[in-house]
Amino acid sequence: MIFDSYEAYRAANFTPKVCILGSGPAGTTIARKLGAAGIPVVVLEAGSREFSDESQDFYRGTTVGDFYFDLDITRLRFMGGSSNHWAGWCRVLDKQDFEPKAWVPDTGWPIRRTDIEPYLPEVRDILDLPAFRPDMPISDDIRWVQLIKSPAVRFAEKFGDELDKAKNIAVVLNTCVTELAGDGKRVTGARLWSNGQDAGSFSADYFIICTGGLENSRLLLWSNQRSNGGVVPNATALGRYWMEHPTFEGGNAILADYNAFEVDAVNEAFFSPTLAAMERLQIMNFGIRLIETPYPGVKSLIADLACTAPSMAEWMSYQLSQRLRCAAQLYVAWEQAPLASNQIELSKTDVDHAGAPRIELHWKKTELEHRTLLEGLRLFGTTLIEKNLGRVRIADWISNGQDYPTNDETAGHHHMGGTRMGTDISKSVVDANCKVHGMDNLYVGGSSVFCTSGQCNPTTTITALACRLGDHLSKVVTV
Ligand SMILES: Cc1cc2nc3c(=O)[nH]c(=O)nc-3n(C[C@H](O)[C@H](O)[C@H](O)COP(=O)(O)OP(=O)(O)OC[C@H]3O[C@@H](n4cnc5c(N)ncnc54)[C@H](O)[C@@H]3O)c2cc1C
Repeated sequence: MIFDSYEAYRAANFTPKVCILGSGPAGTTIARKLGAAGIPVVVLEAGSREFSDESQDFYRGTTVGDFYFDLDITRLRFMGGSSNHWAGWCRVLDKQDFEPKAWVPDTGWPIRRTDIEPYLPEVRDILDLPAFRPDMPISDDIRWVQLIKSPAVRFAEKFGDELDKAKNIAVVLNTCVTELAGDGKRVTGARLWSNGQDAGSFSADYFIICTGGLENSRLLLWSNQRSNGGVVPNATALGRYWMEHPTFEGGNAILADYNAFEVDAVNEAFFSPTLAAMERLQIMNFGIRLIETPYPGVKSLIADLACTAPSMAEWMSYQLSQRLRCAAQLYVAWEQAPLASNQIELSKTDVDHAGAPRIELHWKKTELEHRTLLEGLRLFGTTLIEKNLGRVRIADWISNGQDYPTNDETAGHHHMGGTRMGTDISKSVVDANCKVHGMDNLYVGGSSVFCTSGQCNPTTTITALACRLGDHLSKVVTV
């Protein structure tokens, strides 16, 4: 059932066992799993069926540190959440992303990739994906990796009818949770905001926060402040270890034979390092996206390279006579180290219409991130030379150690960390089952539980974790 207002929902006398906050990919997936297990579940969704400026305004906030997107641009606050404008790039985090890495502090998950792999067939159904294919080594250092472009499933559109017909799922639109109350063991209620005013308190046996990778931290920070630590009793890591995928154009490549790589339908291919290469270079994971450049771009790149690197011009003129050659732009998206200082804080001066403090996001890239970008491109360049596949030209600003440009992609709109998973309560917020440490009935869904970011887009892993949490709760919750 879908209710357009909290009043309509109340009139229906539905009694939920579980309350999910947010109807994005995480919330919708968990609700469908619980509904299928016969557990009555309510999804409280702050927005309506469509975008509105009024709702989106709740997402405004500020960023301190590196240049970042406006916080009300980088996500959407209505039914289906940011799946309403995601691009649909899909890949599950690598096996190595879950492992601790001695050269990057605070890495390593309490679960392994094998813990989410059983859910991948379900994830493929949800995201309309073909089968995943294994990576192919190009060398000992570089792997060809698959990034599937899904049809960018809009969750509200795809699952709206199903949710509306489901007897044990109630989706309540235009109903925002402004804070949770708790006694340090259990969440005792949720404060609601609907129709521009306070709508009283809401109770259920279990609460699952799926309000997105920025908002999960904000809601818990504010709730915890209001309840004197009653919602997140061990809050040292709350809001901290926030991560993005920095994304910049890293240079160009001239390729001896574009067909040497597997390219997708739009002539793109993706490459990542092996764990051994990351360890040897003491860098993090990265993904190089190779995009074929139109012919005029090839000519100017060759002319440019001929001036700056005569030996390369020689190689190119030889290749020109041997094989069809083309050029490519190289975009790099890479892993950001989990740092306690990259964090979501509550603004001390600015509140939203419901009176909750807005987000102040502290975000900075470090030397390790710059090294990963530079060494990653060098590694890719060396591999192309060794295999006689091509040559790479690294953008000057990267080689010269200059500031990141502010007119480039910047990042992926991937909001990870803030309520990370772990066993050490001083460095994590939820346990391996996504349950908030010390709380009996509070869980978190979404990429805020990520311990590390890996290099790939997060929604495939978010959906797999949501299936796993749904499965777990269907065994825990008794009807
Ligand atoms: C431009 C763009 C492109 C992207 N492209 C990709 C891509 O190609 N591949 C990929 O993997 N990912 C991509 N992403 C990221 C992807 O959209 C997110 O990872 C995904 O939507 C997160 O799902 P979620 O359910 O955790 O959160 P969200 O989608 O953010 O959903 C949260 C929901 O909670 C609701 N809500 C918020 N606060 C409250 C509250 N207090 N009470 C009740 N409800 C609330 C919101 O209205 C929303 O419906 C992209 C994102 C953007 C912005």
